[in-house]
Amino acid sequence: MAVTRTLSIIKPDATNRNLTGKINAKFEEAGLRIVAQKRIRLTKEQAGKFYEVHKERPFYDELTTFMSSAPVVVQVLEGENAVAENRRVMGATNPADADPGTIRKEFALSMGENSVHGSDSDENAAIEIAFFFADTEIVG
Ligand code: ATP
Ligand code: MG
Repeated sequence: MAVTRTLSIIKPDATNRNLTGKINAKFEEAGLRIVAQKRIRLTKEQAGKFYEVHKERPFYDELTTFMSSAPVVVQVLEGENAVAENRRVMGATNPADADPGTIRKEFALSMGENSVHGSDSDENAAIEIAFFFADTEIVG
């Protein structure tokens, strides 16, 4: 299996509760390396652009309002099969369905305020990483 990269976001519900370190520990315990990371405050426009694929969904306004409501931590995770491995560590979108020990099971508040984002394919990971990071900011 190849070493790949994925884009992760620690969402406002988690930064508000000071959970950045606990969430990062979950990634590192799973063997994912944080090869780039920064804390930023998204504008509603930036959040809208990032989640453009969901713009016809009924939760789009709620999602982009939430994602711009407080700081987020955007990060690049690197490891074997990083997209799938990160999504395994994150757990299901709805915390009620998430497996024990996953980030969303332990920390998420609801389907919307679910603590983390992770890319869903290698192709989208490349697009999402480029949305936030220059190549020179990623140090593997
Ligand atoms: P993410 O893309 O954030 O990693 P995901 O891939 O598990 O999560 P998506 O289907 O891509 O889930 O939805 C993107 C985000 O939109 C979810 O993480 C969640 O915060 C929000 N969302 C999805 N469905 C709903 C819903 N029914 N109600 C409210 N928010 C939702
Ligand atoms: Mg998604």
